[in-house]
Amino acid sequence: MDVSPPVGLLAELTHRCPLHCPYCSNPVELASRSAEMSTEGWLSVLSQARELGVLQVHMSGGEPLLRPDLPALVEHASGLGCYVNLVTSGLGLTSSRLDDLVSRGLAHIQLSAQGATRERADLLAGAKAHDRKLAAAALVKASGLPLSLNVVLHRRNHDQLAGIIELAERMGADRLELANTQYYGWALRNRDALMPTAAQLAAAEPVVRAAVARLRGTMEIVYVVADYHEPYPKPCMYGWGARQLTVAPDGTVLPCPAASAISTLSLSSVRDTPLADIWYRSSSFNAYRGEEWMTEPCRTCDRRGLDFGGCRCQAFLLTGDAAATDPVCSRSPARGVVDLVLSRPPASDLVMRR
Ligand code: SF4
Ligand code: SF4
Repeated sequence: MDVSPPVGLLAELTHRCPLHCPYCSNPVELASRSAEMSTEGWLSVLSQARELGVLQVHMSGGEPLLRPDLPALVEHASGLGCYVNLVTSGLGLTSSRLDDLVSRGLAHIQLSAQGATRERADLLAGAKAHDRKLAAAALVKASGLPLSLNVVLHRRNHDQLAGIIELAERMGADRLELANTQYYGWALRNRDALMPTAAQLAAAEPVVRAAVARLRGTMEIVYVVADYHEPYPKPCMYGWGARQLTVAPDGTVLPCPAASAISTLSLSSVRDTPLADIWYRSSSFNAYRGEEWMTEPCRTCDRRGLDFGGCRCQAFLLTGDAAATDPVCSRSPARGVVDLVLSRPPASDLVMRR
């Protein structure tokens, strides 16, 4: 089959993070600092990615500001002609560090927030972080860079939705992403405590709709639905190995940020295989490209061009078979697994990310 070049690279520079969000999608087995790729390794990844066709680089983690070589990596990616986005908790962002990053070509900042109030947000972050995020947002606005605010929604903060939208307005965010939790990594471990109720989701709808209408032209609002509650799955990654690749801190190259969860997948590393070989020829990137791999009911379904059968990681995590129909789908024979999760009483304990 014809394979197009990737458009985006998610560069997970480190799994280290000063926060402990219980919904973190990083793997439960985090890559240690000693396993992280060197500066030279990352410079080579960026060059190879650009050669491959990548135009957008998202520098993420963990917390990418913990890498002292971040300015050099930003400068290199931007010098190659890439649009560079920094995905950060905001902790560690100072005026001088931001000025330096901007002078080296940083184009955009995506800041995370955990809730609308200091008390709730700090509880969910497992650290005193909220006030520092407000300060980071003010620095970003003063720099003139576009600012996106990303808030992961779940049972413990859905009630603050209106306040979160007000927070984004106060910060002067250009874009607000309200993303219901996706259950991978630490979020999967905490699923029974984080799953929103149907009533919470129903209450959110008019709040979001009104904010979208009120703020049109000022702030773009993106709402990512809670897929367990939906009849059809999300079009995960817009197709496996179709648009974006992820490089983990240790150099493992992933077709989807959560793909290390699929233990049956043989993942390649950029430490020993060129990125182009991995993108075009590796077994991991070709495993679920196109439609040949699909099983029924996806194989003959009229929606397969819309959602690509859903998420392979979710299929594996919930059924043990990464080629199965995403069990979120109402046409999946395994939908009962999802309904069982939704019927369970909420767990009271949250395991914070280490
Ligand atoms: S979700 Fe929280 S803990 Fe995980 S990387 Fe982001 S800020 Fe850090
Ligand atoms: S059966 Fe497969 S292709 Fe059809 S809607 Fe469900 S997940 Fe999508």
